[in-house]
Amino acid sequence: MLAEYAVRVEQSCGRRHSEPPHPYRNDFQRDRDRVVHARAFRRLEAKTQVFTRRYSDHFRNRLTHTIEVAQIARTVAAQLSLNIDLVEALALVHDIGHPPFGHAGEKALDAAMRAQGFFFDHNLHALRIVEDFEQRYAAFRGLNLTFEVREGIIKHSRDYDRQEFPELAEYALDQRPPLEAQLIDLADEIAYSAADLDDGYEAHLLSLDDIRAGFPMFERFYREVEKKYPQVAEKLKFNETLKRVLDRLVGDLIDNTRKRVQEAGVGTVADVRLHRERLAGHSLEVDEERRVGKEFLYENLYFSPALAEEKDNAELVVGALFAYWMENPSALPLAYQEKSRGEPLARVVCDYIAGMTDNFINEQYDTFCGTSPPAPVSIRTTDRLS
Ligand code: MG
Repeated sequence: MLAEYAVRVEQSCGRRHSEPPHPYRNDFQRDRDRVVHARAFRRLEAKTQVFTRRYSDHFRNRLTHTIEVAQIARTVAAQLSLNIDLVEALALVHDIGHPPFGHAGEKALDAAMRAQGFFFDHNLHALRIVEDFEQRYAAFRGLNLTFEVREGIIKHSRDYDRQEFPELAEYALDQRPPLEAQLIDLADEIAYSAADLDDGYEAHLLSLDDIRAGFPMFERFYREVEKKYPQVAEKLKFNETLKRVLDRLVGDLIDNTRKRVQEAGVGTVADVRLHRERLAGHSLEVDEERRVGKEFLYENLYFSPALAEEKDNAELVVGALFAYWMENPSALPLAYQEKSRGEPLARVVCDYIAGMTDNFINEQYDTFCGTSPPAPVSIRTTDRLS
């Protein structure tokens, strides 16, 4: 049973190219399956989330992160009686536009584009992937996804200004996205905050004491766990605590979103769209704790000197290859050379680089820019339980 304010697949605004209905999958289920079968989706496995493989093979990559977001988003959607098929499609596609090397790669690509008078945005890139770059079907380019999935790709994490992005006019930028899309951004942050604490601790970059001192919600649950399991290994106490942190964040998101929807008197999807602000969100209390935890991760993990080498490497490789292909477009694959006749060369080079995996872009650097920068030294950390 869907809530009144859930998106209904029968009321979808449909696909760009109409297709006959499938005998046993609805349109959002088909979109989810199209995303899973896309090449860009498979490449997520070889793209950095936060940690490159030099620490461990156990850490998240962009694909396992995506699966965790989908799991959390589905749970929340089910509790709020939202459209789970749409939520799953949106979660699985949400990071498909990310370039290699995590946020460092994104920053480097954006900087290279800005020097040419353009910019790079991973949501816009994701839209280009599903609208154009994926070629699976004889009748059209791209995945021919429903309007609601394309809209969610653009609107799940930020608002785009109508004047600045006239090409996105069809997505009604002055309206909020449906709750199914709104909750993706929150599920994303819950997933990566918990995962990065986990991987950062396992990599010995964050100590238990640091986390306890810097993340009050973690500290509260850790005390509870210590009382209940005084004898178990520290790592198991850590896991038990993290589980409670996740539960608290997800539970609060469910309860508070439900409450805000009720208080706003929202009845239909149209009401959600026309509401002055997004309705999915945490309570003030949890939001403050979440903010403190996020700040802790920025200061102690994302900007830590230990990850600086990877970031420098990403900037060097992305910057050098971008410059190389701008000067030597004839070294691009033929399909990209052809595209550059109809589009600015910088855009074509950017699209090519953004699609690459970490492995492939390193190989390209070897081929075109001489010897690879010295690979960051492997830091194989011991398992916290061994
Ligand atoms: Mg994400």
